Amino acid sequence: MRILISNDDGYFAPGIEALANVAREFGEVTVVAPERDRSGASNSLTLDRPLSVRVAASGFMYLNGTPTDCVHLAVTGLLDYKPDLVLSGINDGANMGDDTIYSGTVAAAMEGYQLGVPSIAFSLAKRGQEHLATAASVARDLLRRLTQRPLQGPMLLNVNVPACPLSELRGVQVTRLGRRHLAEPTVPARSPRGDTIYWIGPAGAAKEAGPGTDFHAVDHGWASITPLDIDLTAANSLGQVRSWLDQQ
Ligand code: MN
Repeated sequence: MRILISNDDGYFAPGIEALANVAREFGEVTVVAPERDRSGASNSLTLDRPLSVRVAASGFMYLNGTPTDCVHLAVTGLLDYKPDLVLSGINDGANMGDDTIYSGTVAAAMEGYQLGVPSIAFSLAKRGQEHLATAASVARDLLRRLTQRPLQGPMLLNVNVPACPLSELRGVQVTRLGRRHLAEPTVPARSPRGDTIYWIGPAGAAKEAGPGTDFHAVDHGWASITPLDIDLTAANSLGQVRSWLDQQ
């Protein structure tokens, strides 16, 4: 099995090294990742300048672009084969609920899925790398299951692992995405030159976090696995918008 790995934290991040080490137990691994932290890059492609690929001492390839650039470039030209699997992560922090809209980690996996490759995004639900080994262990377990019993067709899976010792992990739950409250306010500050500058504020707290959601699973000590799709159509609103348009 040939596995392509990317992330949004950068090629130097401990999480991508941990994921590559696990993936090597299952096949031939190629890493193509951003040269710097591109967390929050979502599905952006770099279209206004060329991209350069370099190889780090670790053997990981890195480029001056986004997570989506990395997977796109790898699958559509850089590699002379189509990978069997795209893995992204292990992200430093959760990607649950609305996070998935903004996440570069999820975007890298989504790009693999868009290009017809089964793809999995992994995130450690608390920033700071503590218990990264727990997330690596969950990745190993899922890869083992996947190699023994492949899923039918390309699949996009979003995995979040609670930051706890492996001995305290209760297992893996299949979940749906929860929802967050509105984002926290933007944070104004003063630059050294006296200008007002702004930091984007933190994500909102979990709002829809009941049983069955990713938030609920992770809060209760379970790794969460959510199958994602890309169609943003609000199917329930089609009728309403049609009749609104039909009115004089
Ligand atoms: Mn990140």
